[in-house]
Amino acid sequence: MRTTWDLETDVLVIGYGLAGGVAASIAHDGGSDVLILEKNEYPGGCSIFAGGSAKCVEDAEAAREYLTVLSAGRVDDEVISAFAQALAENEDFIRQLAQVNGAELKRIPNTQGSYPYPGRETWYSLRIAKIPGFEGFPWMRCFLSPAGVNLIKLAMDNVESRGIPAMLSTPVRRLETDDSGVVIGAVAEKEGRELAVRARQAVVLATGGFEQSEWMRKQYLQGMPFFSMAPLTHTGDGIMMSQKVGAALWHMWLVHGSYGFKFPEYQLAFRHPFSGYRNPKRKMSWIVVDKMGSRYMNEYPPAPQDLPHRAMEIFDPDLPGYPRIPSLMIFDEVGRKREAIAQPLAFPGYEYNWSEDNSAEIERGWIIKANSIAELADAIKERFPENEGRMDAEQLEASVREWNMCVETGKDRFNRPPGSMMALATPPYYAAQVWPIITNTQGGPVHNAKQQVMDPFGQPIPRLYAVGELGSFFGHLYQLGGNIGECFTSGKIAGQNAAKETRLP
Ligand SMILES: Cc1cc2nc3c(=O)[nH]c(=O)nc-3n(C[C@H](O)[C@H](O)[C@H](O)COP(=O)(O)OP(=O)(O)OC[C@H]3O[C@@H](n4cnc5c(N)ncnc54)[C@H](O)[C@@H]3O)c2cc1C
Repeated sequence: MRTTWDLETDVLVIGYGLAGGVAASIAHDGGSDVLILEKNEYPGGCSIFAGGSAKCVEDAEAAREYLTVLSAGRVDDEVISAFAQALAENEDFIRQLAQVNGAELKRIPNTQGSYPYPGRETWYSLRIAKIPGFEGFPWMRCFLSPAGVNLIKLAMDNVESRGIPAMLSTPVRRLETDDSGVVIGAVAEKEGRELAVRARQAVVLATGGFEQSEWMRKQYLQGMPFFSMAPLTHTGDGIMMSQKVGAALWHMWLVHGSYGFKFPEYQLAFRHPFSGYRNPKRKMSWIVVDKMGSRYMNEYPPAPQDLPHRAMEIFDPDLPGYPRIPSLMIFDEVGRKREAIAQPLAFPGYEYNWSEDNSAEIERGWIIKANSIAELADAIKERFPENEGRMDAEQLEASVREWNMCVETGKDRFNRPPGSMMALATPPYYAAQVWPIITNTQGGPVHNAKQQVMDPFGQPIPRLYAVGELGSFFGHLYQLGGNIGECFTSGKIAGQNAAKETRLP
């Protein structure tokens, strides 16, 4: 057991995204000295990219009912109840945090739960509309909306107003335990040297997911390859560190994601622009077909950033391979002019502005063009090696014909909403390759209702907590907006409980 340390604190928080910032602030309010260690050069993690708001509920019992169906028996009742209760308290909690900088919070009452389950109507969202005097961080441009940037500003102002130190560019490499397995600190790396930090009360893991670990993606996700839009620091470190001290894992297979684009010139993937809740009247200009040209999915399901990649993941041993990875997005001239088919992130060093009429991407060869569907099939075979020459012109023509009949009748066997349908009838025609895209992962260490990390035998690992998307609640279906809501609920619960641990002498 380690006995020499470079630094000491009561509660050590590892990872400075939203959940880490909240947990640190609340542990401090509970009377603990707190230190945050962050791997990246700046705080924010995935949280800073979030386009949405924090989920809250009007009524804990209704939320419990909804979450019970949503999680389909994969989460214990006790954890469901604790999450539902914290969601019911979320608005008051966030309003308290917002006092630090006068953040203006906007309640968005009409965003219901994504799925038609009992309790759906209890959900609403809370968005940080504005923070007086704050125009964004010089080191981060915002993506869809300033929501995520404002969330991180809120977390940082709470941390800084409490005088909590945060060490950036300090990746934690491992946890330290005593001889009986109690977590007593961690070892980080700072400027090429080891930094051992003792935690007298607890360690809170807030390191996010494994979006950028190719190895973990291959081991835990069914389809290959998946590409990610998350920061490059997200390599599942918290998962490995918790495993090393005996944690059980859950929800590793579940990805909050969609289908989208990946080009070798850009390290991060781009997703299509249909995020948020499904608006059944919003037109979508494309269909998606497999390598051979057959349509197989509802391109616009109830949660467009939760479900669509799942349909892509099947493996066909007779091919052999994944007949739907990559798939092809097919659209026509009307669709091409209508709107950009992708929505890239703004990420320092990885910015890309997609042209509104998709013309620049045709120039780049990311989108290919042909005068007829049969010619498009030939062009796909020739120009996209990943298609492996499988595209079948007759099949693609049949898919487009069948689709155009669906548009006429308003009926689709995959349940695409009639209001979203557009005929593919105006040449030229276009194709782009689409892949399964990870917005963020949900897997990580199992936690109980107190956010304590559990071992495979259902026992808490003493003095170890996990928050945010690291071992998220979501293990069956993802509730849109749920990750941000959970950063607040889990950060509060873990911070409170960590501060109650007795101090080691
Ligand atoms: C583009 C995008 C859009 C999204 N939109 C929404 C949305 O609209 N609504 C919603 O609810 N959710 C959304 N999400 C998901 C949501 O943003 C995340 O799930 C959530 O913010 C995760 O917060 P976190 O605090 O758990 O982790 P993060 O905010 O990811 O923070 C984890 C931090 O830990 C650090 N870290 C990692 N390893 C180490 C280590 N070894 N040592 C020290 N530090 C480490 C990372 O660098 C990072 O800063 C979106 C995600 C993305 C990528």
